[in-house]
Amino acid sequence: MKRIMTIAVLAGALPPMAAGPAPRTADAQQPLPGAPAASPRVEALLAAMTLEEKAGQMTQLTIAAVAAEGGPQRDSIRLDSAKLHEAIVRRHVGSLLNVLGGSLSIDGWHALHAQVQGMAMRETRLGIPVIYGIDFVHGANYTRGGTIFPHNLGMAATFNPALVRRAAEITADEALASGLPWNFAPVLDVGRNPVWPRFYETFGEDPLVAATLGVQAVEGTQRGGRVAATLKHYLGYSASRTGRDRTPTELSVRGVRENYLPPFAAAVRAGARSVMVNSGEIDGEPVHASRYWLTEVLRGELGFAGVVVTDWEDIYYLHTRHRVAPTIKDAVRMAVEAGIDVSMTPSDFRFTDALIELVREGAITESRIDQSVRRILALKEALGLFDRPLPDPALRAGFATEASAEVARQAARESITLLKNEGGILPLRPDAKILVTGPAAQSMTALNGGWTHTWQGTDPSGFPDAPRTVLEAMLRRGRDVRYVAGSGFTEPGDADAAARLAAEADVAVVVIGENAYSEGVGDIADLTLPEPQLRLVEAVQATGKPTVLVLVQGRPRIIRRVVDGARGVVMAYWPGMHGGEAVARVLFGETNPSGKLPFTYPRHPNELITYDHKFTETLSPGFNGAGFRPEWPFGHGLSYTTFAYRDLLLGSVQRDTAVMDSTGGITVRVTVQNTGGRAGEETVLLYTRQHYAATTPYTRRLRAFQKVALEPGASRTVTFSVTADDLRYVGRDGRMVLDAGAFDVMVGGLTGTFRVPPAVARAASATTAERR
Ligand code: BGC
Repeated sequence: MKRIMTIAVLAGALPPMAAGPAPRTADAQQPLPGAPAASPRVEALLAAMTLEEKAGQMTQLTIAAVAAEGGPQRDSIRLDSAKLHEAIVRRHVGSLLNVLGGSLSIDGWHALHAQVQGMAMRETRLGIPVIYGIDFVHGANYTRGGTIFPHNLGMAATFNPALVRRAAEITADEALASGLPWNFAPVLDVGRNPVWPRFYETFGEDPLVAATLGVQAVEGTQRGGRVAATLKHYLGYSASRTGRDRTPTELSVRGVRENYLPPFAAAVRAGARSVMVNSGEIDGEPVHASRYWLTEVLRGELGFAGVVVTDWEDIYYLHTRHRVAPTIKDAVRMAVEAGIDVSMTPSDFRFTDALIELVREGAITESRIDQSVRRILALKEALGLFDRPLPDPALRAGFATEASAEVARQAARESITLLKNEGGILPLRPDAKILVTGPAAQSMTALNGGWTHTWQGTDPSGFPDAPRTVLEAMLRRGRDVRYVAGSGFTEPGDADAAARLAAEADVAVVVIGENAYSEGVGDIADLTLPEPQLRLVEAVQATGKPTVLVLVQGRPRIIRRVVDGARGVVMAYWPGMHGGEAVARVLFGETNPSGKLPFTYPRHPNELITYDHKFTETLSPGFNGAGFRPEWPFGHGLSYTTFAYRDLLLGSVQRDTAVMDSTGGITVRVTVQNTGGRAGEETVLLYTRQHYAATTPYTRRLRAFQKVALEPGASRTVTFSVTADDLRYVGRDGRMVLDAGAFDVMVGGLTGTFRVPPAVARAASATTAERR
């Protein structure tokens, strides 16, 4: 059974789905996930603090609020010492975030911290250090020269948990070297709507993949104990109906629990120290005002004991956007009652002032404030900030090493996913005359995507010289390569010139996709690839020359019009600084691709159906079950070798039927063989399908995966253990249930069937006031 943490019986009305608080268990005595040990220093400080000092600790300001006029310098930020004094000394602000319009050198960061911490330590009454939060969402993306990895979507395509962990460790080391102990990552929103402009920040559409990789990201980030991970954005952010950023999610509580809560639950169990809140709403309730999600579920059920931080300006938005709070003061009261600890305010003191007033008036108790301040101080203490408020210069030695760059290169290589390879057009022949065209061919910003040196990632000035675009990486190999841009990302270019050059070439490589964006700036009205790029591809294809498409993009833009005319299609995601090299290696066959799609690549804009859809979603108008025709399915990814699966064996067998054993487990074995001519890696994906259930079952659901490397001819038997826990789902009353009956297991085109006996099903469901 999954371990459950139940800390308190919580007061307050529950929404209809919830059937009351979970009972205490023996685990109640254990330290809670993310909870630092009780500390005399924290208690002594808390006892000495004024209300104003406490309210200041709960306030987080953007660095822009204390910066001098005129914006950032190339690699430093000039602070306005009067504003800094007002914030840190007079208003007792405990936390700052993020850079202003650019990235800083390590020296720039160190100078900034010296000024901020210097003031906090020397000029405030209690000398509490300031904690600085940063969005290092794909490496040290705000420190110049920092190691940059593929965005999470590409990391998920590697299906390599150890690699995700290593990337998180490197990012944490580089954050610490920059003096940045609080990372606003990983994003654990499950990307089930590819229209959403933050799709690339997710680990794709499957909750198990997001949970598995999320745990690795948290453990990797926090392994040295001096950097905190932040799970974001709790909860349901990615599930908006329209796919536009920060818009309503209309799912039931059950629906949210089923597909969006599991990664957060797993990452809380892994000890994540902080959580950031979804700026949107679930079923009419803004999450920043939701006591149900922030306190009853997050703290009560999941047992989270770390710090909850709001997202940008979101308390004020309860008043100005969501309109559930008639005044800012009401908004502050609602958010604090719901359970927030730190307000990313981020530009003024209205939150701080309102909080002080509310406590003075008795609308919020001081003991409630103390809970939050205790958590904030405990976080600072756990990260070592009281003892070492300034970055250790010695840590520079571990910053951006060659070994770290090699991990980023490996991640980029393993992410690249070969979607189509008709007639073995790839790898390209060594003597081929190649036309390279398309707006992403000569762009570093498209390779890196949003959150790279700037928020939007569109300013290339911070990029080092060495990493290369796709074109440069291809040219470097001395092949016969000619280039013309052919098109902009959204504006037409000289497609005729591209067609003329294609006619003279043996093969055309068209590098298309999306330039960098982040958050709402990336909202779109149409998932289809912009018309100028489709026209470019069509112009090239009209020459009759074989065409290979390379897709550099943060989400699957629809390319139906040009897929059938393409001989090869390579998905690169937003692979980061080394992405150009990784693409070139795959095109020329130096790397055998092994990435697999962590989402369903849609064929049409109105067919956004996830791989695990319900049966009725696959009914075509003719009711023949052929209604699910994605461009490429979840888990798809070709190789330059071939793999064959055989000998699917299911656990213990009684009367010719495999049965889950009485302890609630079944072993699944399958043998996979490399049947082609070159070494390769294959991710083995194991799905189950429940024949009948009390709520409509999924047509299949991923339960386990494992990546194996095989030399030509070699085979390996992979063993999985599927448990009753894995098969449970969220029942009508919000609780985890398992039904007895038949389940299919599907691995690599093979199918087996086993039965869950009634006693096992009862044991898996009954224990449990537990939810997910
Ligand atoms: C984003 C968060 C981010 C925060 C601070 C917000 O707009 O939604 O993901 O951590 O800004 O930069």
